Amino acid sequence: MEKTKMQEPPKAMLDMLENVNVSAFSDEWGPEKVIFVNKPEIGLEGILVIDNTALGPGKGGMRIRLGVTPLEVFKLARTMTWKCALADLPFGGAKGGISADPYSIDKSKYVKAFAAAVAEFVPDKWIAAPDMNVGEKEIGVFVEEIGDLRAATGKPEHLGGIPHELGTTGFGVGVSIETTLQVLSQVSKLQESVEGLRFAIQGFGNVGSELAKYLSNKGAKIVAISDYWGAIYNRNGINISRALKHAYATTPAQSINNCNGATKIERDSVLYVDCDILVPAAIANVITQKNAHLLKTKLVVEAANNPTTNRAEQILFKKGILVLPDFLVNAGGVIGSYAEYLGKSADEAFSLINSKIRQNTQLVLENSINGKRIAPPRTSAMLIAKERVLKAMKGRMAQELIKTKIRR
Ligand code: NAD
Repeated sequence: MEKTKMQEPPKAMLDMLENVNVSAFSDEWGPEKVIFVNKPEIGLEGILVIDNTALGPGKGGMRIRLGVTPLEVFKLARTMTWKCALADLPFGGAKGGISADPYSIDKSKYVKAFAAAVAEFVPDKWIAAPDMNVGEKEIGVFVEEIGDLRAATGKPEHLGGIPHELGTTGFGVGVSIETTLQVLSQVSKLQESVEGLRFAIQGFGNVGSELAKYLSNKGAKIVAISDYWGAIYNRNGINISRALKHAYATTPAQSINNCNGATKIERDSVLYVDCDILVPAAIANVITQKNAHLLKTKLVVEAANNPTTNRAEQILFKKGILVLPDFLVNAGGVIGSYAEYLGKSADEAFSLINSKIRQNTQLVLENSINGKRIAPPRTSAMLIAKERVLKAMKGRMAQELIKTKIRR
């Protein structure tokens, strides 16, 4: 691993690193570069992790969070390596993080300075995107500072961006669920379509609300929905057009909790309602070994990143509940980003998401099925992703070798 230090890590960054030895998370896949950014004159501290670029420039968002850690940024970069490989995109994995309080800083000023500091890696090694507390406005600033439209996706429309609000990720999750049912209905008691199936959705922001819209248009019953403030339940199906008025809530008053026509339930009991498919679409680590035995579902579809711990997944598997992994089902966003990178329209992006998610879900499940037995889909998904990255790494090594021989 090559560690490129723009400058010495600042004091706060060293504190942040105290318990993290960068070599502890490096392995044969990466990271290729870890770049620390320090601009004390404006109080900027940041980190860019370029994990693996064998398949193409590292793709991954940029987040602003006070106390963002190198390990956190690395893990997100690594997830992008697998997600892009599995989606069959010519991208590797990377992630950027700025440690600051997003509510008290001038975000544009910080993002502009961060862009200037990492400019030499963009867009050949890193193509940025929005993430926590970074939206299209900051992405616009980033792209203008770099001076190249390929520097990021998630750009404002006037710079050729495809708006996040169109719901590319939620759409992709819906397509993955439909494909899963088509494949699994051949080997299990699951039905072939979502029509009449009962769903519980945790989280009603960009991903959860777009997915609810998609599923309800196809005749599915959404029996439970939650957000940060609460949850509602209706065994006959929640009225989704009414519920959508409470999507993207940022205050308790807007919460789904206030939606009429359903019973209020405790927020986290959304995970335990009797349903056919449970979709965590909020935060990480919500299904753990402590609560896995309480789930009453047939399938868990990971719309959020890392909602299920490894131990919980093993418990669920023993109970006959399959988990469709995040880096397969929530890749709609990054596939949409690829379409934006190619300069395609929103319609073209949705069509690409539809075909890629369908193809990849089918491939993963077919590789998981052996007669009437099904292995955990995460295992076969990981195998496919690793094989693709390995092949590209070998190709790159062979090219390097040829170049060295020619130079001699
Ligand atoms: P969002 O901020 O738009 O929505 C998050 C929702 O989760 C909100 O409704 C919020 O109230 C709710 N929430 C927060 N804490 C909760 C809790 N403890 N219990 C129940 N609900 C809670 O975020 P999003 O863009 O919809 O992303 C949701 C998840 O999907 C995240 O894990 C994100 O990393 C992942 N994801 C998003 C995208 C994307 O394109 N938006 C792509 C890939 C993965």
